[in-house]
Amino acid sequence: PQNSQYEPLSPETLAQRLSAVPAIAERVGSDPAEWTVREVGDGNLNLVFIVEGSRGTVIVKQALPYVRLVGDSWPLPLYRAFFENHALVRQAQRDPGSVPEVYYFDNDQALIVMEFLAPHKILRRKLIDGEKVEGLGDFLGKFCARTAFRGSELSMKSADKKKDVGTFAGNVAIPAITEALVFTDPYFDAEMNHHTAALDPVVADLRADTRLKARVQRMLMKFASNTETMVHGDLHSGSIMSTQTESRVIDPEFAQYGPLGFDIGMLVANFLMAYLSQPAHRTVERLGDYQEWILTVIDETLASFEAEFQMLWKIERTGMLYPAALFEDQGQSSEGICLELLAEVRRDAIVFCGIEMHRRTLSLAHNADFEEIEDEAQKARLEARNLAMGAKLILEADTFGSTATLLGIAREFN
Ligand code: ADP
Ligand code: MG
Ligand code: MG
Ligand code: MG
Repeated sequence: PQNSQYEPLSPETLAQRLSAVPAIAERVGSDPAEWTVREVGDGNLNLVFIVEGSRGTVIVKQALPYVRLVGDSWPLPLYRAFFENHALVRQAQRDPGSVPEVYYFDNDQALIVMEFLAPHKILRRKLIDGEKVEGLGDFLGKFCARTAFRGSELSMKSADKKKDVGTFAGNVAIPAITEALVFTDPYFDAEMNHHTAALDPVVADLRADTRLKARVQRMLMKFASNTETMVHGDLHSGSIMSTQTESRVIDPEFAQYGPLGFDIGMLVANFLMAYLSQPAHRTVERLGDYQEWILTVIDETLASFEAEFQMLWKIERTGMLYPAALFEDQGQSSEGICLELLAEVRRDAIVFCGIEMHRRTLSLAHNADFEEIEDEAQKARLEARNLAMGAKLILEADTFGSTATLLGIAREFN
């Protein structure tokens, strides 16, 4: 179906419409009458189908011309599938095995056919259900470090990187969602906002804080205009799928070139929100142990991010930045320079983290960690802690150079 007019698929039409695509038939089976098609559809934006046959199963993800969560009153370009496909290909190169393999891409139909992850489960679900995942922090830290480093001019040839920045600069409408929903809407009475009523006084305090809003806008400037590396752009626990021992990253349609600390900051925020919401999801007997496990994951994520970045700095600095000619070739070590850069990345990440904590409780797209809390009073209490911790991270980002300090503060807000 190349060069065909866009039309959304349905479970009824999918088999007939895609039966001629060899990349699917090879993996699912050649007789479409035997395919079973189910729509998963727990995402906010797109159609996702599980297509199962005698030979195997694939995922078919298709963009819709509007935001699924809101409806056709909010149009959104189909081109996001193009960027998702490009991002998946780059992430597979930069961190092999970290994302589902792409089998087929159809630009006109805004459609990606990819590897079906099973028995993987969305990590946010696992965190709410109290399930542990081995090696999670190590995997995520490495994913962030490898994609950050290898998507930057620390590693890439400038010509390649600039061309790629040009390609991704075409992704205007999707990052615009982040620019509004994440960085701006939480801090004023934006139309699509909603929050738990009892938070009103806390929200008023946040919006009265000019210094905090200015910090956030400064980070928005970095997010919108700093093209250090290709970021995933939507790296929350709903974009990670895990078994007990293995994890993958999905859903990079928000990919763009942005700051080195963006993904890791969003990620840590989602673990902190999982942590702070736990009292509503665990029995007292299991609460302490599971919460401490989440903090261990944060610790391991940041540690493996920084260790992997330093390792790549040593062996893969093949771009124009910090060339060996300026340091090692003159008998000087650049280890301390890498550490300084990482300290700056961490500071940015901590601010992004605080902002993400705010937007998930105040703006349009909330997270299930808090949304599934039925007791309104408890929900408000836990969300208030989340907002307060977020504000502290934004305003005092300089003081979180050590992860132990960060985790200590999380325990104080618990
Ligand atoms: P959206 O962009 O709409 O958020 P996602 O890519 O996050 O869509 O996918 C929505 C849901 O579909 C996921 O939460 C997950 O349950 C399922 N899903 C997506 N990709 C895969 C995959 N490769 N393997 C298995 N399930 C998947
Ligand atoms: Mg998603
Ligand atoms: Mg989504
Ligand atoms: Mg998505």
